[in-house]
Amino acid sequence: MMGVKVAKFGGSSVADAIQFKKTKEIVLSDKDRRYVVVSAPGKRFEGDTKITDVLYLCKAHIEHNLPYEQLFQVVIDRYMSFKINLGIEVDLQSEFDIIKKNLHDGIGEAYIASRGEYLSAVIIAAYLGYDLVDTVGLIRFDKSGALMFEETDKALKEELSKHERAVMPGFYGSNDKGEIVTFSRGGSDVTGSLIARAVNADVYENWTDVSGFMMADPRIVDNPEQISQISYKELRELSYMGASVLHEDAIYPAKIANIPINIRNTNEPYEEGTYITAEPDKNNTKIITGIAGNKDFTVIALYKNLLATEKGYIRKILNILEDYDVSCEHIPSGIDTVSIVISNEQLDGKIDRIIKDIKNQLEPDSIEVFDQMALIATVGCGMSQRTGVSAKLFTALAENDVNIRMIDQGSSEMNIIVGVENKQFESAIRAIYQAFME
Ligand code: ADP
Ligand code: ASP
Ligand code: MG
Repeated sequence: MMGVKVAKFGGSSVADAIQFKKTKEIVLSDKDRRYVVVSAPGKRFEGDTKITDVLYLCKAHIEHNLPYEQLFQVVIDRYMSFKINLGIEVDLQSEFDIIKKNLHDGIGEAYIASRGEYLSAVIIAAYLGYDLVDTVGLIRFDKSGALMFEETDKALKEELSKHERAVMPGFYGSNDKGEIVTFSRGGSDVTGSLIARAVNADVYENWTDVSGFMMADPRIVDNPEQISQISYKELRELSYMGASVLHEDAIYPAKIANIPINIRNTNEPYEEGTYITAEPDKNNTKIITGIAGNKDFTVIALYKNLLATEKGYIRKILNILEDYDVSCEHIPSGIDTVSIVISNEQLDGKIDRIIKDIKNQLEPDSIEVFDQMALIATVGCGMSQRTGVSAKLFTALAENDVNIRMIDQGSSEMNIIVGVENKQFESAIRAIYQAFME
């Protein structure tokens, strides 16, 4: 019986004609690779532009009444070069004409951003000889822009049962009015996972430019060790904390359908990559599985004598944040102190008003704000069974002169999170990595 694999190709896998060829070879080398999800063309070299970024820039120009035609020409040229270099027979001109008209008529940002994926899918479907299936009306969002999970699954199942082989654009779907809605950046990973669930795939392959998930970001740590197997749970912590390989929301659909995710390298297709499965790797003797983090958080630290005995103080803090539509990452607390950690993106100009409300409602003895904090999570299922893990981590940071601003140990006992200054982010990650790899 024929198996079924979903293969999602990221921006670098469809960046130029050479990458297109590799992608085609990969798909056609395994007849089970029946459903292909594609991103918009990414960077061809360091410093190059991603098509999605150019499209967002087009929209920004239109909003400011600036000429955008030259920018859109960059997009056209990219796709035309695929068509010409690879001799693909597809009518791109009429696609460009439709998009140009919509741009001219003032269509929304999500539509414009989505055209990168759409055009990739049009051209790759023709190149592979697969059906083109657009995700409008299939990947469905509600009025607030949230994904309608079950409706999406149903619509995808119904449509894909009619196609033995298909190429689909990642990153977007539509709402009830038929308007395009996108996921957050990197969201083609989510599309792939939803499709894998809908067709009950044997595996969800995520083809990118690294040979799998590594213990730390390879742009920070030189040659980090590759993870051959990791559990959904551990990966979710790492992705959420900033390991950008896979979008954090791409894990859930595969997880509930118990479909393994396999991260693979389009440039080294013979390598097995990383398998993400329900169970952690039993043969892994390492104490930690990985390290990930992100910069640009604010920590608000309150001090008040015997704060912890005051009833409802956490509720008051959460109410204030809710008033400003701000969610917080962590609230580590002690007897006389509580810290609130919020991403700077969330705060966006609201900090002064929030501080004022906190002062009024909680009457702290003092309040300190530090807005240059980075969070780093050290994750591993095996951590809870070992003693001395935190001691080892803190010693490593101290020895490297990293100043720890906050500590939070998740209740899952699967991770330890430290807050350090932005400028010490990279050195802290390197220190932790070294300490646990010795
Ligand atoms: P794609 O365009 O294929 O979706 P992304 O750029 O989204 O690819 O993700 C792959 C990149 O993630 C890698 O090139 C690497 O720089 C980065 N990355 C960050 N953390 C890690 C990690 N722990 N392991 C591997 N790659 C990582
Ligand atoms: N092209 C989109 C982005 O750049 C989505 C994706 O690549 O997954 O964010
Ligand atoms: Mg990505």
